[in-house]
Amino acid sequence: MPKAKEKGLRGLGAKYGSTLRKRYGRVYSTLKLKRKCPSCGSWNLKRKGKGVWGCRSCGLVIAGRAYDITPAPIKSS
Ligand SMILES: [Zn+2]
Repeated sequence: MPKAKEKGLRGLGAKYGSTLRKRYGRVYSTLKLKRKCPSCGSWNLKRKGKGVWGCRSCGLVIAGRAYDITPAPIKSS
């Protein structure tokens, strides 16, 4: 998905330095990605809390990683 650029960086402003902002932006964009529910197949899977993901269509709640449910898409550069 090449569309995901520097969106979602609002809210941090110029604080915390560029490295942390970049990392935050990456995590944030990962967070905002649409997830497909493994149970009902809808795209209403949302992060409910840290490591908890829930489907708004079928009510499924699954445990995952803190910011993602799939293994490590965040690459450290
Ligand atoms: Zn579902």
